[in-house]
Amino acid sequence: MSDRMQPVVSLKGVTRSFVQGGTRIDVLRGVDLDVMPGEIVALLGPSGSGKSTMLQAVGLLEGGFGGTIALAGKRAEQSDSRARTELRRDHLGFVYQFHHLLPDFDARENVILPQLVAGHTRDEAIIRAEELLTALGLGARMDHRPSQLSGGEQQRVAVARALANRPALVLADEPTGNLDEATSDKVLAQFLELVRGQGSAALIATHNERLAARMDRVVRLHEGKLEAVETREALAR
Ligand code: ADP
Ligand code: MG
Repeated sequence: MSDRMQPVVSLKGVTRSFVQGGTRIDVLRGVDLDVMPGEIVALLGPSGSGKSTMLQAVGLLEGGFGGTIALAGKRAEQSDSRARTELRRDHLGFVYQFHHLLPDFDARENVILPQLVAGHTRDEAIIRAEELLTALGLGARMDHRPSQLSGGEQQRVAVARALANRPALVLADEPTGNLDEATSDKVLAQFLELVRGQGSAALIATHNERLAARMDRVVRLHEGKLEAVETREALAR
């Protein structure tokens, strides 16, 4: 199969249960999902439905999952922890609800660091960081540390960091969930434009149906499984 036809990520029968206070909760009960290259998928579901759990599964951040997860054709559950770390580094970018930027580094440096880890030269990394931060309207904020930035600006830096290595798949867990509505809309629009512009795929958890309707496809977690959601906007595309 050519790379073009191969899903960026493929989940088959993914399960995850937690035991808490003697009670077992089956959060994921057999999740199937293929995300194709360049496809932007919204993951809907109310709080507690398992969105973060599912993104952790796709992000290869935790064990304890049943079923299979293939990232760029490589089976995660058959990889050891070093191989999983390499899969994450080579194929994934993350945006969380809280920015998780390094507090002692300025915006530019926060976007440079993951590129150095991935083996880019410092000169390349600086150019890429400045290009992304400028595209996100932070051209005048590159020397600011996270504490010197607003919530929306912090999330923009987090977006730049996630996209810095042009990952095949960007995972975002309610990336604008902490922002007011106007800022959230603006940051999400910029995020989607950059993701589309560089041809990355994305899986974006949100409980906001209005934001979800801007993406290519919408799926919803319901009773531990994924169901397709048809929106007028998604159909019109
Ligand atoms: P969402 O992101 O959609 O709000 P989560 O994936 O965070 O949902 O949580 C889904 C369910 O799994 C919740 O009932 C939550 O309490 C439970 N859960 C998540 N992580 C853990 C954990 N580490 N230990 C026990 N229960 C957990
Ligand atoms: Mg969550």
